[in-house]
Amino acid sequence: MHRHYQVLGPASINTGTGGAIIDCRHWTRRSAGEEEVREIVLHVLPEQMAAARPRLHHVPDGYPAAFIWTEHADNTSIQTHRAVCFGSSRIADPSEATGGFVGSGVPVTKTVFHANPTNRPVAGSAGPQASILGDPDFAELCASLHRLGWDIGLHSPQPDNSTRAANERAIKSLAERYDARVWIDHSCSVIHNGVSALGMVPDQPHYIGDLLARYGLRYCWTFASEDASELYRCGLSIQQTRVGDWAVTPLMWQHPPETGTLWIWPSSAGSDFSVVNAAELDELIDDQGVAIMHAYPAYVTTSDSPPYFIERASEGHWRTTTRFEGSLREIAKRRDMGLLLPTTIRRWCTYVESIKDVDIYPSAAGTWIIRNTGNSPIEGLAVLVPRGHAVSGSGRVILRGDDTVCIRDIRPGEVMEAGAGSCIPSRMPA
Ligand SMILES: [Zn+2]
Repeated sequence: MHRHYQVLGPASINTGTGGAIIDCRHWTRRSAGEEEVREIVLHVLPEQMAAARPRLHHVPDGYPAAFIWTEHADNTSIQTHRAVCFGSSRIADPSEATGGFVGSGVPVTKTVFHANPTNRPVAGSAGPQASILGDPDFAELCASLHRLGWDIGLHSPQPDNSTRAANERAIKSLAERYDARVWIDHSCSVIHNGVSALGMVPDQPHYIGDLLARYGLRYCWTFASEDASELYRCGLSIQQTRVGDWAVTPLMWQHPPETGTLWIWPSSAGSDFSVVNAAELDELIDDQGVAIMHAYPAYVTTSDSPPYFIERASEGHWRTTTRFEGSLREIAKRRDMGLLLPTTIRRWCTYVESIKDVDIYPSAAGTWIIRNTGNSPIEGLAVLVPRGHAVSGSGRVILRGDDTVCIRDIRPGEVMEAGAGSCIPSRMPA
């Protein structure tokens, strides 16, 4: 399993000689005298019952695999946003989309700049980079995408360094406008208030840990998210099982000594999305994996940079590329077959976090008990049991390979039972 260090970027330690130090901190670092207690419970069971133990799938709603596009906000304009969302920069209404993410019904975890007070321009243009406060049309575009189920989060408050007051305005604004839960660090060599820079170091002006907690932004991308990223050798699955144990990556992780209760999710750098093709998507589905692509879909390209997601159709007019539409078609086709869930970081991370609260243990009657010990309902919980077995409660059932996949919503405290034979009605504990 790859050890993901907390990375404190060059902004945190400047050598004063033009060089910089990147400080990597291991998550097992502990203070002198600190104690940690862990428990393990062993059940000794007949082989037949042990083999029938239910498993919780890490993708909700019964899909074997999931696909998540995540967008970093760098160097974009309202025209390029409209093009990549709707197929053409001439379309402003999601209901009129002819292509792009919205046209194919594929959601995005989209991060944005809240403000651009220095009017930092897009490459090759005098126009400022898009921001929520800088352009009411962009703020409304994000609102319309949020209504479609997209994540709208922060890629730092602005494209350059910001004050603590500006940081709080931005985090509060995104939480109130778009119910934001997601943060993606911008360059840790430029922005001091990132999670990968000084943002989680208390008692200095760039600290944002308290603000993220106060306004509910809890799922983060940091520079440690890709410290073992090997997209072109490892394929689309962010667990990276194709090249041996050294690269195998957790679905998401916490780093308590440095980042408290924030969840860090991994990703693959995928602006050149040539790997988003039929063969790789089918392998992702066979592996029951999760793809999380780190991308710049609305990046304003200049003449010497290759067009990936969008291209110039004429002066000031952008459209999606044939290649990008082809990748979207391959994703949408597998979604429509029930094989691939295009989703967002918020939906998927909330699900993965919540299934950690599901206890599974044997009953005296020879069945398995599945109990939601958390405080939140879990929607679309996918429980895998061997064929011929069932899970109590109402929901859907899919037969896949040697498994029966039972998809249920489970309330806090609710108990379900799994075993051979027909379903047993769900019951609430006393
Ligand atoms: Zn960035």
